[in-house]
Amino acid sequence: MAMGDKQKIAIVGSGPAGFYCAEALAKSELAPEIDILDRLFTPYGLVRNGVAPDHQGTKNVWRVFERTAKRPNVRFFGNVEVGKDITVEVLSQLYDAVVFAHGAPRDRTLGVAGEHLSGIVPSQTFSQWYNGHPDAEGFVPPYKHASIAVIGNGNVAIDVSRILCRTEEEMLATDLPQHGLEALRNSNVKSVHMLGRRGPLEASFTPVELKELGELKDTDVIVNAEDIPDHVGSDVASGDQRTKEKILEALKHFLVVGDTGKKRKLYIHFYAAPVRLLGETTLNGIEIERTRVEQGKAVLTGERRVIEVSAVVPCIGYQVLPFEGLEIAEGGAKYKNNRGHVRDNLWVTGWAKRGPSGVIGTNRNDSIEVANLVLEALKSSPQKNHSKDLSDVLQENKVAYVSFDGWEKIAAHEHSEASPPAPRKKVTTWKKFQEFL
Ligand code: NAP
Repeated sequence: MAMGDKQKIAIVGSGPAGFYCAEALAKSELAPEIDILDRLFTPYGLVRNGVAPDHQGTKNVWRVFERTAKRPNVRFFGNVEVGKDITVEVLSQLYDAVVFAHGAPRDRTLGVAGEHLSGIVPSQTFSQWYNGHPDAEGFVPPYKHASIAVIGNGNVAIDVSRILCRTEEEMLATDLPQHGLEALRNSNVKSVHMLGRRGPLEASFTPVELKELGELKDTDVIVNAEDIPDHVGSDVASGDQRTKEKILEALKHFLVVGDTGKKRKLYIHFYAAPVRLLGETTLNGIEIERTRVEQGKAVLTGERRVIEVSAVVPCIGYQVLPFEGLEIAEGGAKYKNNRGHVRDNLWVTGWAKRGPSGVIGTNRNDSIEVANLVLEALKSSPQKNHSKDLSDVLQENKVAYVSFDGWEKIAAHEHSEASPPAPRKKVTTWKKFQEFL
């Protein structure tokens, strides 16, 4: 490293984990130069492409990330796919450290018979579709079905159930793309069955998200009184007591309100493990088995029944994808690492580091910790030769990238095309994005 030359760090992935890490590094005493790479033309990862469009308040965290992107020592390189446009090996040579923050973008599978049937809808693609992700172009959402099962009791299952039950009118002030508004206008959905294999106290959704289901304009939320305990019980950890109490309050409220004759019903089933997906080539039902919870685990009771559904959306967690230079940990939820360190100058943060759990803010602390460890390691790492810049390599590799200024032109276009009260009309196809190069 030449005198006065700053150390350089590449961050792969521009979602919350990547941006929180970039912020912690950029404002550190060392003030290294940070390049954030993303295979999309757009920054902000799951904030743009995962958080549901009717949660614009949550999405607004992009404003925090924008401030980071505008720091003088931070650059954005969109439309650059690591592993295809540039290898991990070259990145590792160009930079003093490389931090992978590209998440866990693969759906877990259920592992029950019938998973090949048509009518199984990956939650990842569905959420990309309602967020206008270009990879979901042409995806057919399940709104033609009258009865749909959503498997899981996490916040993704809640998002998916809610978006299946929304009306077009409820989404006008969001950035749900035109194809989404049309699907809601023509929706045939009558019943959504959300299936949790354990009970209300073991569910991983959060009280605010659960409560919000009770505000749906055209949907009644139906729960089974037998599944709702009176009290939380002393076996729940003291730190979780209040959260669980709020969950019970919300469920009891649904019991009191009951069926008010709204057009759609959202049934929340607990103690319902999916055991088989039914049909010849096309799904026509899901067989579930009643469970009881013993020492926190779902135990099958032998009591089975079938719910007639023609679509199933498993929302049962995600896994990481095979990636050059990174070894997948057992179970597939994350890459092998030691507090974020993979080997040499390679690091991971966010879901890629710890698996697909936690809300956006969880990534802040996680990424700050990784950033501090990276900074510590840089103090004793061998100096890199910075004679070549990423932009030189991309030019050699004939890769046209989008800078943050380029992204801002896309954002301005999306803003100018929007019909108020929608905040933006998203660009949703690779072809349209290419026009901004
Ligand atoms: P999650 O919270 O881990 O929930 C996964 C659900 O799938 C659990 O209910 C789990 O049940 C169930 N499941 C797993 N395998 C199953 C199987 N074979 N059969 C039946 N059920 C099965 O994960 P997530 O919903 O994908 O969310 C990921 C993270 O993103 C979470 O931390 C979540 O809070 C966050 N997120 C937040 C928001 C928000 O704040 N609005 C929105 C979306 C996501 P068990 O518990 O019994 O294993």
